[in-house]
Amino acid sequence: MRPDPHSYADVDQPRTRSIDLALRVNFSRRTLEGEIALHFHEPAVGNLDLDTRDLRIDSVTSLDGAPLRYELAPAQPILGSRLRVTLPSRADGARIRYGTSPAASALQWLEPAQTAGGQSFLFSQCQPIHARSLAPLQDTPRIRITIGSARFTVPSQLRTLMAAASKGREPSSDTEAVDVFEMPQPIPPYLLAFAVGDVTPRELSPRCAVWAERPLADAAAYEFAEAESMLRAGEELFGPYEWDRYDVLLMPPSFPYGGMENPRLTFVTPSVLAGDRSLVSVIAHELAHAWTGNLVTNASANDFWLNEGFTVYAERRILEALYGRDVAELHAASGRHDLQTALDRFAARPELTRLRTDLEGVDPDEAYSSVPYEKGYLLLRKLEEVAGRPAWDRFLRAYLGKFRFQSITTDDFLQFLETQLPGLAARAGALEFIDRPGLPGDAPQARSARLEALRSGGAEPRNPTELLVVLQTTAPDVTKLRELDSRWDLSRRKSLELRHTFVLLQLRAGMPEGVDGARRVLLETGRMRYLRPIYTELARRDPAAARRIYDDARAGYHHIARTVVEAVLKEQSAER
Ligand SMILES: [Zn+2]
Repeated sequence: MRPDPHSYADVDQPRTRSIDLALRVNFSRRTLEGEIALHFHEPAVGNLDLDTRDLRIDSVTSLDGAPLRYELAPAQPILGSRLRVTLPSRADGARIRYGTSPAASALQWLEPAQTAGGQSFLFSQCQPIHARSLAPLQDTPRIRITIGSARFTVPSQLRTLMAAASKGREPSSDTEAVDVFEMPQPIPPYLLAFAVGDVTPRELSPRCAVWAERPLADAAAYEFAEAESMLRAGEELFGPYEWDRYDVLLMPPSFPYGGMENPRLTFVTPSVLAGDRSLVSVIAHELAHAWTGNLVTNASANDFWLNEGFTVYAERRILEALYGRDVAELHAASGRHDLQTALDRFAARPELTRLRTDLEGVDPDEAYSSVPYEKGYLLLRKLEEVAGRPAWDRFLRAYLGKFRFQSITTDDFLQFLETQLPGLAARAGALEFIDRPGLPGDAPQARSARLEALRSGGAEPRNPTELLVVLQTTAPDVTKLRELDSRWDLSRRKSLELRHTFVLLQLRAGMPEGVDGARRVLLETGRMRYLRPIYTELARRDPAAARRIYDDARAGYHHIARTVVEAVLKEQSAER
């Protein structure tokens, strides 16, 4: 049986328990060459179906080297190619020699000119279903794996970082070295992650460090200085941190997301380097994934809200614990604004605005939006409000304990909720959130005196988060926008959160300087959170400018971001 619509993995076949990886990183050919060994839970016989995408398979053998029969099926557009291996009796694993394609969807290879430090840089992004372009494996979160050993042969002036425990570096030649890792905690394959570059650490606490290219290391250490206190707040709320270290790697600007919760080593966009620590909620979010997402994991992309809704909820609880209820409510208000944008975007595809989705035949990258994040948050907040916080917090601890290191469905969550807090889901109308499109009329609202004062104009914003909430409720009026710009210097702010919100208002108001502002944002970052809304607005108003800017910026974008922008440009030209 194949329970995950995005994987060929068959749960009636042997399941991988652990992998070993040995890969040579070739920057000039933009390939990884090497092998993976898969170790099974139980010896088995018969077929083993693996996920692959754009891989060249050189050989498949048993663990001790006896050749095995295999067949690589033609590629399917979303899933890639099934690799079917025929296992002899009592097979305890398989060893596959292979190479990746320069177009591997999990990898981005950066030229020295595209990095802050002027050295080549490589990073992986495996969520949701890109791990299969790195290595042949069972690419479904249902099958968690440990990593016995991962060995990366890299140019010796560069260093590999992996979301795993470092076992040091072995010299291999005059020009190359081998960086060695292991990962004792079982992870879903989408959390396989590594980067290779000229990076240096800054210690933040005995268990936290930030890594960055040299020119950005000090700025990153300043921005993320609160990581340890966030980690402690997380432990207070959700129980012990299970992953030993918590490090942060500052990515190049092309990184398509705000952050990626790779265990032990969050990858984070440099667009959060606002210089004033105003955007560190991204760190609270990625750290919260240590419990929600990495410890308790969605069984497939259909249940993505279990990862992201819980994590937004956990992130705001951490913010509340550290900075107070008013701050958490400001973030909730901003999140509600993001959710509305996503609901509008999917007006013609309302099925994608349910929490529980059916993504058979749909690319999860295409279905990606704020909905599982912010609608999921609102459901959990609703459950908290109906249950009362003490009972809800007891439930959360029990939930994280019951399903730790497991991958679960929405049904598993609902059944456990019913055993712990009978009747709560019905009283809160949980299924309205889970299985209906849009947002129920009685969804919770962010509320605080500060928020009301800011929205009514009765208070001046005191910090960037408050300013953002004000901007999000500002009408696109030329006079008003000029006044705000001279008061707050919005078109020159370092914070892309503020600047992109302001640029959107300028574009909506038809101000020509909006196009210049848009151009600057779009060339500065490859983070989809900013690309999507700005390209959408720009393409609606000035499609030629949108196309021109994209032609200049494209080389600096990740392929996931390119797909998104190209879809936006195509859609807008179709509407005209
Ligand atoms: Zn997340």
